[in-house]
Amino acid sequence: MLVVQKYGGTSVADADRIRHVAGRVLKRIKQGDQVIVVVSAMGNSTDDLIDLALQVAPDPDPRELDMLLSTGEQVSVALVAMALKTMGQEAVGLTGQQAGIIAQGRHYQGRISRVEADRVRAELDAGRVPVVAGYWGVNEDQEILTLGRGASDTTAVALAVALGADRCENCKDVEGVYTADPRIVPTARKLKDITYEEMLELATQGSTVMHNRAVELASVYNLPILVTSSMVDAPGTMIRQESELEERNRVRGIAHDTDVAKVTVRRVPDKPGIATNIFEPLAEAGISVDTIVQNSSEGNLTDLTFTLSRGDLRKAEALMPVICEKVGAPEYTTDGNLGKVSIVGVGIQTAHGYAAKMFRALFDAGINIELISTSEIRLTCIIDSARVPDAVRALHAAFELETAD
Ligand code: ASP
Ligand code: MG
Repeated sequence: MLVVQKYGGTSVADADRIRHVAGRVLKRIKQGDQVIVVVSAMGNSTDDLIDLALQVAPDPDPRELDMLLSTGEQVSVALVAMALKTMGQEAVGLTGQQAGIIAQGRHYQGRISRVEADRVRAELDAGRVPVVAGYWGVNEDQEILTLGRGASDTTAVALAVALGADRCENCKDVEGVYTADPRIVPTARKLKDITYEEMLELATQGSTVMHNRAVELASVYNLPILVTSSMVDAPGTMIRQESELEERNRVRGIAHDTDVAKVTVRRVPDKPGIATNIFEPLAEAGISVDTIVQNSSEGNLTDLTFTLSRGDLRKAEALMPVICEKVGAPEYTTDGNLGKVSIVGVGIQTAHGYAAKMFRALFDAGINIELISTSEIRLTCIIDSARVPDAVRALHAAFELETAD
């Protein structure tokens, strides 16, 4: 089988782990598989590089920051390739550029537009293991663009699609996808499989197991992803089109996120154009908005609330006075200490009782719900961030996730 194996930062955090990764790759090759390796930067080195940049420049130039950040992955690439060669396996370390990862868009927010996979394929055909830098590519002007935090997963999936690989393996410091974060819920269970759409909701709602754009891309091309441990030999979780079992109308997992802020624009005159006038300036400033709720209007005045990540709140607050003036709203309020919990499962919205059960479980735990949002396969409640762990435990118990399957 042709497989792209991606190793995250924790899995390549030091020399021992790098040798361990090389040994694992070698074992797969001895079993007859062809392997392409994609790596993240060692440990927390991306964070360390950002800290370093901020010491030199309070507001680093985006081009040079991407220049700096791209070096993190290059370190891992070189070390993994060296370790393989020392074990007698031909290998070649490749930067994002050498591997033909072509991206477009803004710095730190690059998107892969295509993969020119000829070099990687040629190395593979020559019997060398390509070890590729995750997280970045170059645009048409050969400028470096990083693809967003955690996006090495996306590099791996894009390469797998371009090479026609049988699957992508995301090798991590966890053994797979769990019904909830095991650090919060000790009885959380590892799932045998999960559908793309469920995984995408979990990833978008706060699970850090997989980068959401990687899941999206895999789903478009129907590429199976195995989430598995890089440390121990244990069956992982397969992300694919359909689960093996009849899983409709079942909660599969609980996602949570403690990084939510909210802005409410009060008493906006209800007329065409207010949403545009509020959200266009935010989008132009690169702020992504998550949940949006507009109240039904009373006396032609309405309240409009949206959520965003806490890191973007200051930027949004700077824009709000101008926005409020434009839409004729007398005031706005903000809250920077929120979080969210979601139940996810194919078909739950069309089935009876899930919402009621979720609200009951939160009520019984004494947790106030600030906002509610839904999709076809998800129910999300925005709550006080300090209560998020309690909420996750309450929902895991209420939906009997420790015993399901
Ligand atoms: N090293 C990058 C980050 O920490 C990319 C990744 O880990 O996937 O965000
Ligand atoms: Mg990382």
